[in-house]
Amino acid sequence: MSQFRVAIVGAGPSGFYAADHLLKAHAENIQIDLFDRLPTPFGLVRYGVAPDHPKIKSVTKLYTRTAKKPEVRFFGNVNIGTDLSRADLEAHYHAVIYTTGAQTDRMLNIPGIDLAGSYAATEFVAWYNGHPDYRDRVFDLSVEHAYVIGVGNVALDVARILLRSQENLHKTDIAQHALDALAKSNVKHVTLVGRRGAAQAAFSFAELKELGALEDADFIIDPADLQLDPVSQALVEKNKKSRQKYELMVEFSKREPTGKPKTLSLKFLRSPAALEGDANGKLTSIVLERNDLIEAPDGRLRARSTGYTRTYPAGLLLRSIGYRGVPIPDIPFDDKYGVLPNVAGRVGSAYAPVLGHYTAGWIKRGPSGVIGTNKPDAGETVKMLNADLAEGKHLSPTQTDIAALLDSRNVHYIDWDAWERLDAAELAAGEAQDRPRIKATTIADMLRQATA
Ligand code: NAP
Repeated sequence: MSQFRVAIVGAGPSGFYAADHLLKAHAENIQIDLFDRLPTPFGLVRYGVAPDHPKIKSVTKLYTRTAKKPEVRFFGNVNIGTDLSRADLEAHYHAVIYTTGAQTDRMLNIPGIDLAGSYAATEFVAWYNGHPDYRDRVFDLSVEHAYVIGVGNVALDVARILLRSQENLHKTDIAQHALDALAKSNVKHVTLVGRRGAAQAAFSFAELKELGALEDADFIIDPADLQLDPVSQALVEKNKKSRQKYELMVEFSKREPTGKPKTLSLKFLRSPAALEGDANGKLTSIVLERNDLIEAPDGRLRARSTGYTRTYPAGLLLRSIGYRGVPIPDIPFDDKYGVLPNVAGRVGSAYAPVLGHYTAGWIKRGPSGVIGTNKPDAGETVKMLNADLAEGKHLSPTQTDIAALLDSRNVHYIDWDAWERLDAAELAAGEAQDRPRIKATTIADMLRQATA
């Protein structure tokens, strides 16, 4: 083959890591085209990572280095499924890697979940990060009591953003519309609800520590919520990470309130049983059910309802119980787990792999791990691809230039130079207002600034 051509669908962390692994394995004669449905690269780093976590975002410097390699081209604002089909990709590339992430949320099926005031945390995250699909969402922040269901890192992110001072948020690249809306927020009390116990909390130590240091909010945790059953006690003793988090929670539980204007509460062993609303369909309260823990056959502790419930006032609810992948047209999809069925990154089953199609990241394994977890994950996928290639198992493209096809369809794609113009415009707009960046949040604005 004169040139090995690979399409990567999704320019988030996994897409860049996959490109990087490919470049290392194929020093020459490779062409990597990185597609994204948005004009902007970086996926979850731009639209998922919390704005007050700039250090995590600095990983984009590494991705930029990859994007600027002569073997790599970026095609932003190209939607696979509408602008290009699977057949188009197969006609142009020897292999395709899907790294589309997890773009929606897991559903929480309880009565009242559709009341006004009840939202998915994933949408709130995308809104405050300026994702064009979510910029027009309206979150009613006129209420005092907010509940966040789930105790993973996303739950902690949204709780922090709800409680951060304006002064602090102003220093971040949070979308301007969110900064303005949060300036008028009346939310004073945020409660995080974990269905299992303190020993099973999914959040990380650093994120927990940050919550305990919020400038405007006292951290409240009832010591009774920290009592452990023998299995959880053994877990905390054995597992260093669980122990560190648990000890910090114990420390927090001994704190006296300092009179800060807001509170952040953490409750464990409770599940939302129902949401209640007023005559206008607006959320007014949440019914929390107490749980105990039972050991499942796999040794994992699961929450079981005790039947005991209590109702609390709540005007805002964010369900933060995990992201979920969405299907890609003409590619098999595992609806149960919200991923592409795959074996170590080869799309399909062990008996019926889909020739030439691979996957990496959250759409491959589900929404777990931190950004860096995607590097070895993409490495595994590229290893499979290389092994197949060595055996002559690849697609047989007949065309070489996807740009010509996109031009013929009048697709206004954004290349890396155009993205860099948009990036520079956002940074300049930020500098003028003493902020790190002012994000463009509509596709039209992005295209205008990228092509100016
Ligand atoms: P996650 O870590 O999987 O947490 C999901 C939470 O939802 C868990 O507390 C889980 O409880 C709970 N949950 C699931 N189903 C539920 C139900 N039906 N009812 C009540 N609670 C339910 O997911 P995430 O917070 O969305 O984060 C996704 C990934 O991104 C994680 O790996 C996370 O660490 C990572 N992330 C990292 C950072 C960072 O490094 N700063 C920031 C954001 C996200 P159970 O444990 O009982 O299932």
